[in-house]
Amino acid sequence: MTTTTILITGTNRGIGLEMARQALAKGWTVYGSAREVVSDPDAHICGHPKFHDLQFDVTDHAAVRSAAASISEPIDILINNAGIIGPQRQSTLDMDFDGFAKAFAVNTLAPLAVSQAFLPHLKRSSSPRILTVSSWMGSLSHAKSDRIAYRASKAAVNKVMQGLATDLEPMGVAVAMLHPGWVRTDMGGAAADIDPATSAAGILKIAEGLTLEGTGQFYNWDGSALDF
Ligand code: NDP
Repeated sequence: MTTTTILITGTNRGIGLEMARQALAKGWTVYGSAREVVSDPDAHICGHPKFHDLQFDVTDHAAVRSAAASISEPIDILINNAGIIGPQRQSTLDMDFDGFAKAFAVNTLAPLAVSQAFLPHLKRSSSPRILTVSSWMGSLSHAKSDRIAYRASKAAVNKVMQGLATDLEPMGVAVAMLHPGWVRTDMGGAAADIDPATSAAGILKIAEGLTLEGTGQFYNWDGSALDF
């Protein structure tokens, strides 16, 4: 019986940790990346025989490539999940530009760098899929301006991933972007709408069902379509 192999970035907490837990519960093989590998006995993923740690900062492209070189098995699903909200000062009228650049490096450039590094593994899958956790806050359809560095970095990653979808379609690799909901994590805060388990289940369902027919699209966590 063939099993699914998934790589998720940022599995040490938040939505990424919950996706790793749920993927393991499905019997999948999980590669999970974190900046620092923490043996958290409460996480129920460390020490699981089908969980494999990868240690890299997603902005360190050399480290990402070397992690990719350490794996030989095919990867069916890559989920670019790691992300940051960006600097304290991020208004168009008062911008921490270094912080803006960092948000861009983590939220926009890193998903592409990780996708490139693991493309050879994805190409060896019979059903390769790349999903990037973006945000509805990056949608160009509304003009809200708070947290503009974050919004811009997510708008940009949608464009980058839309382009990647176009370029990878002839190779049979499906690429999608998604909004995970407003989720009760360190980033989303305690007042957010849904818990990480609900969000993670929605994302994994989209990942399971993604085919070339749905490539290049922006999805909400519940599977509905979102405007860019
Ligand atoms: P958390 O803040 O809870 O977790 C963020 C994760 O990203 C952590 O694992 C963190 O690792 C990792 N990360 C951050 N920077 C780096 C880096 N440079 N290299 C490697 N890993 C890094 O956030 P969420 O779980 O809520 O968010 C997950 C994704 O969902 C993000 O892309 C976010 O933008 C998106 N999102 C979240 C929403 C929400 O309401 N929560 C809403 C819309 C989108 P570390 O512990 O090392 O910092």
